[in-house]
Amino acid sequence: MHLISLASALILGLATGPAAAQDAPRWSFAIHGGAGVIERANLSPEQDTAYRASLTRALEAGSAVLAGGGSALDAVQAAIEIMEDDPLFNAGRGAVFTAAGRNELDAAVMNGSDLTAGSVAGLTTTRHPIAAARAVMERSPHVMLIGEGADTFAASVGLEQVDPAFFFTERRWRGLETALRAQNLPIPARPAGAPGPQAETRLSTPPLNERKFGTVGAVALDSQGRLAAGTSTGGMTAKRWGRVGDVPVIGAGTYASNRDGCAVSATGDGEFYIRASVARDICARIALGATTQAAAQAEVDDALSLGGTGGVIVMDLAGRPSFAITTSGMYRGAVSSSEPARVAIYGDEVLRP
Ligand code: ASP
Repeated sequence: MHLISLASALILGLATGPAAAQDAPRWSFAIHGGAGVIERANLSPEQDTAYRASLTRALEAGSAVLAGGGSALDAVQAAIEIMEDDPLFNAGRGAVFTAAGRNELDAAVMNGSDLTAGSVAGLTTTRHPIAAARAVMERSPHVMLIGEGADTFAASVGLEQVDPAFFFTERRWRGLETALRAQNLPIPARPAGAPGPQAETRLSTPPLNERKFGTVGAVALDSQGRLAAGTSTGGMTAKRWGRVGDVPVIGAGTYASNRDGCAVSATGDGEFYIRASVARDICARIALGATTQAAAQAEVDDALSLGGTGGVIVMDLAGRPSFAITTSGMYRGAVSSSEPARVAIYGDEVLRP
């Protein structure tokens, strides 16, 4: 399996063109909305359009912050909050379900300029897990909080709390039913407060093989030269036993360091990202002199030779974003002070407005 993934590994630099020859941008921003088996044949035209519009909205939120002189951290949070609220993505509303029929949300953020970091795992009532991760970083003496305690902390610092049914989507519920049937596991009752079964619309039909992908992430360089990274996810469909993936593990799915000159957000089979310390390793490779692109490629190839599939986005101090995947697609986009917002979905596609 991983040999096939490696054989088809694709490394996607941003569309170069004339802007590549220009000076480094004052600020730069990149996002992803998950990697996976995302092929033209799997996405309806409506889905394709909806994803592109959604990615563009998230890019615009980040670029509004950065163009106004705001911080990399604020840009990362603004874009991720938009994607958390968007049911298209596996984060916040639209997150995948656990085998018990719950949404348990993980997120992390890291400030490259001072190496502070915050993360949360297993949230069930906080509307914006990325905001909770940031609050852990800035308003607690800790780096990582989990479960009920993490929601309690988020509420205590004034972050919006919602009924767990807020996160429910029919699309993900159907994905859970399919996954549980395949594993011969019982299907739980629909969550209290969830709407009754709804007709599946073309827009709500998940692309094939979307068992886990749809995690969202962002990396930014601001006009003061600060790097930041953030990631938010519902994890994996039908996860059990309090499973936590790579996203809230600092250095696995999320890392940023101005010292190394690197910010990373990952998506894919979290267990392998944890075992290979992917995000931290990419930064170490860059600190040792590798180009952003080569570091991302080498690390994804190495890590996913252990198993699994996925991708990463990386930002460096020159404002150069890189995308590396071992899958057929990744929802992704980039914008900078010298280039307009551009998005792409399929592996063979260059970013375009
Ligand atoms: N990395 C996430 C996890 O393992 C899932 C994903 O990115 O699709 O929880």
